[in-house]
Amino acid sequence: MAAPISLLLATRNRGKLGELQQLLDGLPVRLLTADDVGLSHLDVAETGDTLLENASLKAAAYGAASGLPTIADDTGLFVDALNGRPGVRTARFGGPLKLLDALRDIPAPRRAHFACVIALRLPDGSQQHVTGTCPGQIMFDMRGAGGFGYDPVFQPDGYDQTFAELGEAIKNPISHRGLAVAALAPLLKSALGIG
Ligand code: IMP
Repeated sequence: MAAPISLLLATRNRGKLGELQQLLDGLPVRLLTADDVGLSHLDVAETGDTLLENASLKAAAYGAASGLPTIADDTGLFVDALNGRPGVRTARFGGPLKLLDALRDIPAPRRAHFACVIALRLPDGSQQHVTGTCPGQIMFDMRGAGGFGYDPVFQPDGYDQTFAELGEAIKNPISHRGLAVAALAPLLKSALGIG
């Protein structure tokens, strides 16, 4: 069998590495992190106005510094009643309790969606990207012990429980990230000439 192709994941988050590794299982790809390639000092400011801009900035910086095919992602929660906020600034917004407070006067259904963009940069500097979106609504209190971030207040369409109640086995295949990674697999196959 041919040696696996090294693919750099532009993050220092080991949790994301494990999740991606599982989802890319079966492809001849060896996922590396910034730590693995001596780039843990690299800090890319997420200054873009869109998820795609931020994912592209990260993929470009880590890809240029490493010379490896590189993927980077950015995720946001877009709430209709807040004109799409916190959106690209979700990581800096302040958490689910702050969101419930911001929506306290808004009646149901409080429509929202998660979006995840993954950018792939090849060593020749070219980039491609995939997107995953999960529509749903923001509930009125925190429900469920699983998950992270906004999982306890987000109920995906088609279910009557939050992501935190549903658990990973149900969440992952329908989530914004799961859908983006599912779209990434064929992109990687054609861009890297594998599989
Ligand atoms: P990141 O771009 O993956 O770091 O995501 C930005 C922020 O969005 C995180 O800090 C979380 O608060 C939130 N977030 C991303 N994905 C999820 C999810 O699947 N469930 C709940 N919150 C999420």
